[in-house]
Amino acid sequence: MPELPDVETFRRYFESTSLGRTIERVDVLDRRMLDDISPRKLQLALAKKKFTDSVRCGKYLLANVSNDGSLTLHFGMTGYLAYLTDGQEPPRHTRVLIQFTNGDRLAFVNQRIFGRVGLVEDADRLRELKSLGPDALASNLDLDAFRKIVAGRIGKIKAILMNQKLIAGIGNIYSDEILFQAGVHPETRARDLDEAALKHLFRSMKQVLEEVIECQADSRKIPESFLLSHRSRDGRCPKDGKKLSRAKILGRTAYFCPEHQFKK
Ligand SMILES: [Zn+2]
Repeated sequence: MPELPDVETFRRYFESTSLGRTIERVDVLDRRMLDDISPRKLQLALAKKKFTDSVRCGKYLLANVSNDGSLTLHFGMTGYLAYLTDGQEPPRHTRVLIQFTNGDRLAFVNQRIFGRVGLVEDADRLRELKSLGPDALASNLDLDAFRKIVAGRIGKIKAILMNQKLIAGIGNIYSDEILFQAGVHPETRARDLDEAALKHLFRSMKQVLEEVIECQADSRKIPESFLLSHRSRDGRCPKDGKKLSRAKILGRTAYFCPEHQFKK
């Protein structure tokens, strides 16, 4: 499922391909993808306009339209973008197709239908509508803000990191990675983390996300020292060689190392 580093990679791809192009029309191939908006309204909002820039809010990509609102894209379980030139055929499972006046097209591809396409006034409105916490890489999410969000909570730290209403952008894979790098057991209660552990966790959150973005969220480029490439039933910890353990948290499978990830 696309998480913050994946969405940031899509955002950069979007900017490098689609900014400044005039939109001719929008073809909605599957209305189930639309988030509380009709195809006609989407068409009216985008036709003859240009994408001017984009921002990320957690797992959402906002494509700003001629300083007049934003197209919102949420990728669900398996979504991605494909920019098509020279009459290239859209990939299978393309759900929304944006046609530019130069003949190129931008395909929003979503195999399962968990992704969403919508319109909002701006990023603040999206955060309000979806009750999103600050983006995990936002500069205003500093150590003090992180401590205020996390410290004292009774919940398990992995569940807190994955709660989009507290911090936006982190899902199952990268919450595991952050906890792994910080040496914190995923079932630790947040209120049991001391100041040193909170600091370590905060630094690890920023570092892991930034490093994965550097790798374009491509699992083949992510370092061997990351948990990510060892997540399997027989996987071993790349730090100490111990067999990885698993636990169910919020219905998702967490991987962790029983040797170096401690419950505080
Ligand atoms: Zn280990």
